[in-house]
Amino acid sequence: MVSDSLSINSQGHLAVSGADTVSLAAKYGTPLMVYSEDGVRRNCRKFVSSIQDNYDGNGLALYASKAFSCLEMYRICDSEQMGVDVVSGGEIHTALKAGFPAEKILFHGNNKTPAELGLALDAGVGRYVVDNFPEMELLDRLAGEKGVRARVLLRITPGIDAHTHDFIKTGLIDSKFGFTLETGEALDAVRRVLKKANLDFVGVHCHIGSQIFDIDPFEHAALVMLGFIRKIKDELGFEPAELNLGGGFGVKYLDDDDPEDFTEYMRRVAAVVKEKCAEEGLRVPFILIEPGRSIVGAECVTLYTVGGVKRIPGVRTYVSIDGGMADNPRYILYQAAYQITCANKANEPRDTYVTLAGKCCESGDLIQENAPLQRVEPGDIVAVMTTGAYNYSMASNYNRIPRPAVLMVSGGKERLIIRRETNDDLLRLDI
Ligand SMILES: *Cc1c(COP(=O)(O)O)cnc(C)c1O
Repeated sequence: MVSDSLSINSQGHLAVSGADTVSLAAKYGTPLMVYSEDGVRRNCRKFVSSIQDNYDGNGLALYASKAFSCLEMYRICDSEQMGVDVVSGGEIHTALKAGFPAEKILFHGNNKTPAELGLALDAGVGRYVVDNFPEMELLDRLAGEKGVRARVLLRITPGIDAHTHDFIKTGLIDSKFGFTLETGEALDAVRRVLKKANLDFVGVHCHIGSQIFDIDPFEHAALVMLGFIRKIKDELGFEPAELNLGGGFGVKYLDDDDPEDFTEYMRRVAAVVKEKCAEEGLRVPFILIEPGRSIVGAECVTLYTVGGVKRIPGVRTYVSIDGGMADNPRYILYQAAYQITCANKANEPRDTYVTLAGKCCESGDLIQENAPLQRVEPGDIVAVMTTGAYNYSMASNYNRIPRPAVLMVSGGKERLIIRRETNDDLLRLDI
């Protein structure tokens, strides 16, 4: 199975943290997203304890909440001693409404609006990752007007491609994010931020990609960033105290996927950082990391009810479900791989190959093609696994389809954390 939270129970049904998904589908309807709270918390603890164990607790793990944002996720992160990374006024608002401490919020984004920055400054958000020069000016001015100070990290584009096995050190300067290291823009940005009256420059940030399985690119990024810190120290006589290494840790979508354990990540990165700091005569920095997908991705399944099954001999079999790109746009966006199973026939062999089709009026609305599945018929429950990250948070109301309900399960017991959208909810903004 793609997650330890999943099992097959004595009735041959798929279970999430001990809760029978077929019963949950009957009770709450479909489409339905079922998260393992136990799994989410286990992942949070892995990150938090790996910083304790390998880095003397001298760091903070921030959940990148764009992966899945709702009140309950911020509450869980707070209770697990995590910080959160937010990328919009909407995420800040949700975090604050959940009672999340503002000082443990870090604000990202390449075009934060004056209204969003104003909201953050009023709330006392703890860290801003400044992405570009106009934003630096804007944040400095707004902080000045409000009579507050903003703690700033600068987003650096270090030119590392984590998706190739050989790290390509050049050619990656074509990014909408951050200050480019290679061109000298990054050092210029530090020079400028140090002169800002209302900004406290505390560190540098990089984020090298997503769904990364190897640890080598992260070690490499840490070395490049420490090299930059050394350069800042040498040229500007200032040593930033914080190093933010971003997120991007991979999860299992398919059985063959083999991401390294997160605890191993921190063990190796901490070792490299300590060694490099000793070599370069730098203080060991406070480390921030921003895991998103790896906290929630593998800890959710989406349940759908099978409607039509269309067999086109010699071509393919379409299995239509009562959801699709509206609740999970990742396949239509980037042909993302998913494992699927029939929740009420979980013990039967997956010996047919099907195209799982969504219900939107869009030929491309598919969830998976040529995917192994048990023999299914109308009324069966199909589970798509590893839908915890970038599914609900990317969901839309295309075709005026209401968004699914979301459950959290702990120790076999479920609770509703987001109710199902109704047809009337769809009218709430219409005038
Ligand atoms: C998206 C993002 C993350 C989280 O990435 P995951 O792949 O979900 O871990 C972290 N930091 C930044 C800046 C991001 O844009």
